[in-house]
Amino acid sequence: MSKSVTEIQQAFKQLRLSETAEELPELLRKAEQASWTYLEFLEQLTTYELNRREEKSIERRLNWARFPFYKPITMFDLDEQTAITERQLKQLREYQWLEQAYNLILLGPPGAGKTLLSVGLGIEAIQKGFQVSFVTMGELIQLLKTEEFTNKSRTQLKRIRSSDLVIIDDVMYVAMDEREATLFFQLIHQLYEQSSLILTSNRSPEEWTELVDNQGIMTAILDRLLHRVEVIHMNNESYRLKHQKTIFN
Ligand code: ADP
Ligand code: MG
Repeated sequence: MSKSVTEIQQAFKQLRLSETAEELPELLRKAEQASWTYLEFLEQLTTYELNRREEKSIERRLNWARFPFYKPITMFDLDEQTAITERQLKQLREYQWLEQAYNLILLGPPGAGKTLLSVGLGIEAIQKGFQVSFVTMGELIQLLKTEEFTNKSRTQLKRIRSSDLVIIDDVMYVAMDEREATLFFQLIHQLYEQSSLILTSNRSPEEWTELVDNQGIMTAILDRLLHRVEVIHMNNESYRLKHQKTIFN
């Protein structure tokens, strides 16, 4: 019974409770100060370790996701959007669609808020325990094309394939050749019914077909994507233009 605090901290580390190990002196101080019972002390200690692990897990998954920015969903202003009602946004934020591997397609012109909404939902999904990846279509095609010979691409694609939610931003921004379309099809096929996708685009799915040489491949991609899907047509008015900051007024 005469082990020093440092020795007990070491033991906690060996038990892979490193967060508690670090916090132990502080926890002991609080316990004495507030005269915690043995049970209260154990409860505080386990709760601390679990909370810290959760926080670190969220941090790690946020880093993995590779979001272009960290704006929470609360920054998405519904007054600026007639395309989505409060009830619909609430339903999206319950993430049942994610558990059931539904896809979301956000369509609308540049500045409509597609990326903002997708990032907001992605961040919140991570906080709810899901694994999320964000990638632009351009980056994704590049990753797929270099997967065979670049470790970095392989690692990133592994994360994408293991995600519960994959956000692909700016789908069909540019045309795809047959090889690119085939690679994209293979990925969609792998993710099909296992993960949810959020796709954003300023072109409608009908137009996507026109942007590939082999239209059959795009038909097959759409067949999978549109099987379980919610398509949201975002405002035609650009938020950027409406809130344009000018020098002269
Ligand atoms: P898109 O991806 O459709 O081109 P963005 O998501 O990049 O549009 O949005 C463009 C800009 O307008 C961003 O600065 C974004 O934060 C802002 N914005 C768009 N829609 C909203 C909204 N509903 N509420 C708050 N900000 C918005
Ligand atoms: Mg965008």
